Amino acid sequence: MRHLAQWFDSIETGKPFVSCKICQNTLSTTGRSWVINKHYHRKECVMEYAICDHCRDEVAGSFSESSKAAIRDFLETKIDWEQRMLEWKKLDQPIKRMDHCVACTMPREWMLGFTISAQFRNDSSLIEGALPLLLCSHCVSQITESLSPESRETWNRFISMYFEGPDSPDYYPGIF
Ligand SMILES: [Zn+2]
Ligand SMILES: [Zn+2]
Repeated sequence: MRHLAQWFDSIETGKPFVSCKICQNTLSTTGRSWVINKHYHRKECVMEYAICDHCRDEVAGSFSESSKAAIRDFLETKIDWEQRMLEWKKLDQPIKRMDHCVACTMPREWMLGFTISAQFRNDSSLIEGALPLLLCSHCVSQITESLSPESRETWNRFISMYFEGPDSPDYYPGIF
């Protein structure tokens, strides 16, 4: 039986992430929590990374105020948190929260792509709160479209600096 936390193991190594994609520091030595983001397209993981809280603050800080506000606005208004929390609490298996988009509730099987995010404590335990969550690529593009050109540029720079392969504008910066 697959556990919720296993969704966030590295596909590349088959094990939990060890270091931050940006600063390369060992996550457990950063003294703070970290976030794992994975992007799937046609059921295949096309990008995955762990980012420590220090680097997350730095990348998030480089986004414009209007973009941060747009992302916050989406997360606050397009996701029925009260409803999701109630549903998640009733699940017999926590892993089932990954079966639907957290915002539009579309079933995962119907999605062309999706992004998942989770936050881990410094002792490597999964934090179960608003995260882990799954967002479908349709909802992700609603978020990326609301970013200012400067923030998109920042984000694309981040992607091209740390990842190989063709860049796509539809990666949700799951760092907020
Ligand atoms: Zn880092
Ligand atoms: Zn959605």
